[in-house]
Amino acid sequence: CAKAEGRGTHRLFESQMGVQVRDRRLLEHDLRGALVSQQLSLVYQPQVDLESGEVSGFEALVRWIHPERGAVPPSTFIPIAEETGLILQLGEWVMRTACIQAASWTAPLMIAVNVSAVQLHAPNFVAFIERLLAETGLAPERLEIEITETAMIRNMNRALANLRQIKALGVKVAMDDFGTGYSSLSNLRAFPFDRIKVDQSFIRSVHDNDQSAAIVRAVLGLGKGLNLPILAEGVERLEELDFLRGEICDAAQGYWFSRPEDISAFEDVVRGSRKTIAPDQTVVPLRL
Ligand code: C2E
Ligand code: MG
Ligand code: MG
Ligand code: MG
Repeated sequence: CAKAEGRGTHRLFESQMGVQVRDRRLLEHDLRGALVSQQLSLVYQPQVDLESGEVSGFEALVRWIHPERGAVPPSTFIPIAEETGLILQLGEWVMRTACIQAASWTAPLMIAVNVSAVQLHAPNFVAFIERLLAETGLAPERLEIEITETAMIRNMNRALANLRQIKALGVKVAMDDFGTGYSSLSNLRAFPFDRIKVDQSFIRSVHDNDQSAAIVRAVLGLGKGLNLPILAEGVERLEELDFLRGEICDAAQGYWFSRPEDISAFEDVVRGSRKTIAPDQTVVPLRL
């Protein structure tokens, strides 16, 4: 009986695998189409300076609204784009759209753009950024690229060379999802980062979890020692924000301030007529 059950489970597993592989191929196919048929868009999430309380910039995040499936999350389609090489086109579209958007703002706020490993290692990446800055007129200092630690591992030398050239243009470089990748500390020494974004998994419930609190305090100490500003990702609750303020964290981002939204939601901020975000308490998820 146990054996039969085992075989059944195995068969079910195999058929699920088949579905997943097929589904992936369909998504890959559709993603190619999405690039040309305007199914992609960007949403923007404010980044807040904790000393002044003002918005210092926005992170651009890509969205895909599939005609039949609806919203497909980046965590599903970015890996597919990376494996198929589509990320090069997609990444250029994201970068161009974000830079054009930021160049249109009256307030000289920062624009942060996620860059994947594949892009960072592409030989024409630096030239592309340089051309784009010239085309859009965006001041290089207003662009920050966010890279994850895993983004650098494939070919350290190439990644380092490209990062140095990007920094030489005046563009800022942030380490994204700090604490979740590999050999974070040696990367911090090897790469010329301008700031560190602490992964949201450490921020979550930092106020009532001693381990998270110890880790975040240590990262903040590291930032001070290395003279690297720290941004806390995924701040959802006032208690988390209060903890970060108490520990003198430089900047924060998260649902407590705002979810990522269409840029029209921040019109007064990018126009310069308003400097802060009114946090919408109603979006704070309840933790029972
Ligand atoms: P990320 O760069 O670390 O972006 C932060 C993610 O956390 C975003 O998810 C954002 O919507 C979400 N987030 C922000 N604040 C909160 C919060 O308070 N609570 C919670 N639970 N989540 C919060 P999203 O947009 O689904 O993106 C996921 C990941 O996909 C990004 O992580 C990034 O690695 C990747 N991604 C998104 N857009 C792009 C892109 O244009 N290019 C590339 N290469 N990757 C992208
Ligand atoms: Mg990011
Ligand atoms: Mg992150
Ligand atoms: Mg992430």
